[in-house]
Amino acid sequence: MPVDYHVHTKLCGHAEGEMEEYIAAAQRRGLQEIGFSDHIPMYFLPVEERDPSVAMREEDLPRYIQKIKDLQQKFYPWPIKIGIEADYTPGMEMRLAEILRQYDFDYVLGSIHFINGWGFDNPANIHEYKKYDLWELYQQYFYTLGQAAGSGLFDVIAHPDLIKKFGFNPGHDLGGVYREVLQQISDSGACVEINTAGLRVPKNEVYPSPEFIKLCFESKIPVCLGSDAHRPELVGADFHLVLELLRSIGYNQVVTFNKRNRNYCRI
Ligand code: ZN
Ligand code: FE
Ligand code: FE
Ligand code: ZN
Repeated sequence: MPVDYHVHTKLCGHAEGEMEEYIAAAQRRGLQEIGFSDHIPMYFLPVEERDPSVAMREEDLPRYIQKIKDLQQKFYPWPIKIGIEADYTPGMEMRLAEILRQYDFDYVLGSIHFINGWGFDNPANIHEYKKYDLWELYQQYFYTLGQAAGSGLFDVIAHPDLIKKFGFNPGHDLGGVYREVLQQISDSGACVEINTAGLRVPKNEVYPSPEFIKLCFESKIPVCLGSDAHRPELVGADFHLVLELLRSIGYNQVVTFNKRNRNYCRI
């Protein structure tokens, strides 16, 4: 079992368990390393509008980093990486870059959870899908994802087709949209995350779809693995399935990171 680079902590207000329990779960599963990637503070909102059940507070970020550093020492030489799941917000690139510059992250996951301020992957906001033309919504989502890649701020594009989470289908073939966004990801040098959380939501399909992963392989885009665990027992969840899928598509390695430099681990 290789690495799990998408793991949350209870600092975000909607995950449970101690970081030590996530590490123990990773070791039990036979993972070679773990990377924590909790939600970045909601830098894109005024402080008073930030929801403590969505992401850690700004003052928790240095504590989060320090806690991982302490655990690196405690579990040495077993590798624990310092990651972050950073929301991309068009027009806020400078602000995000400023935050990212302050810490020595091993890697940065780039995510889109908001469209025009609507947290579309939050079950509490699911009723708002009704307001949208789904095909336009999908196009807007992938357009923003392309912008995220183009920003050059991210090492990994996380759960690239998160917009499918609740199973609302756009009613159009997505091949063209995928190709366009993959060109931007390829140009940016970012890799794509294979995220097993998609198997635990109504859509019941890995993020991104197998079709998208095949196009990644054709475009020689490397992939990274994540469970998006919000509970210790979900670390490495369903990795045997995605490893099988990746090998069947042709991949024989996944990405690892050290201080934002990329390495590879055979699968
Ligand atoms: Zn979360
Ligand atoms: Fe996410
Ligand atoms: Fe996440
Ligand atoms: Zn996520």
